[in-house]
Amino acid sequence: MVVPDPAALMNWSSAGVTDRGRRRARNEDALLLRPHARIYAVADGMGGHAAGNVASQTAIEVLAAAFERAPSPRIGSATLARRLLGVFNDANHAILEHAARHRECAGMGTTLTAMVPLAGSDQCVIGHVGDSRAYRLRAGELTQLTRDHTWVQQQVDAGMLTFAEARHHPLASVLSRVLGTAAVGPADTLVVDAAPGDIFLLSTDGLTTMLDDQDVRELLSQPVPPAELTKSLIDAANERGGLDNTTVVVVASGRG
Ligand code: CA
Repeated sequence: MVVPDPAALMNWSSAGVTDRGRRRARNEDALLLRPHARIYAVADGMGGHAAGNVASQTAIEVLAAAFERAPSPRIGSATLARRLLGVFNDANHAILEHAARHRECAGMGTTLTAMVPLAGSDQCVIGHVGDSRAYRLRAGELTQLTRDHTWVQQQVDAGMLTFAEARHHPLASVLSRVLGTAAVGPADTLVVDAAPGDIFLLSTDGLTTMLDDQDVRELLSQPVPPAELTKSLIDAANERGGLDNTTVVVVASGRG
């Protein structure tokens, strides 16, 4: 009797919402939700006028064009991580080129956090630049998979600030890496394992400045489909003030 690999039976379900929040005039966040191509992403744009929106949309469009179809099942995680890194570089160049041609977009930038589950595999490749995060909820435990590219995170890493001090620091939103700058460092890519029952969350900082990890863990632990999870997260961020745009993408792995 052939016993199929449990991972090969993994069946992903997903949902995503982007919300302007309660205070901002515009929504400069963007998301990508393409289950058939197995690509999921959130982006948080910044810049004057409508430029932040242009930056986040440009990053999402470059990513979408690069992942029109699901990656071949023969592609391994290392190859996929390299490919994702190249796409992040392409997105950076596309934003820079647009800004060079449109004066009103000068200085615009965006975060980008993207996730690609491998076909029939028990791994996901994640790429990110900025402070939009990826989390995994497994057996009731929430793990932040990405490390923020922020000045305060650098201070935490150096032992100069505690995690709690960093969270409420006046410079908490200052990014150390962003797409749309000539001197951008490469994206971080990571390969994480995935098991049936895992729930992955991609979110912009509009969520994580309003809710702490404990709130997120409780909301994500509700036994409801991804669409209801995304709604609960957005509602909770708005109930706490909704000071920023909030974007969430929930990707849940279950057995097919
Ligand atoms: Ca934001």
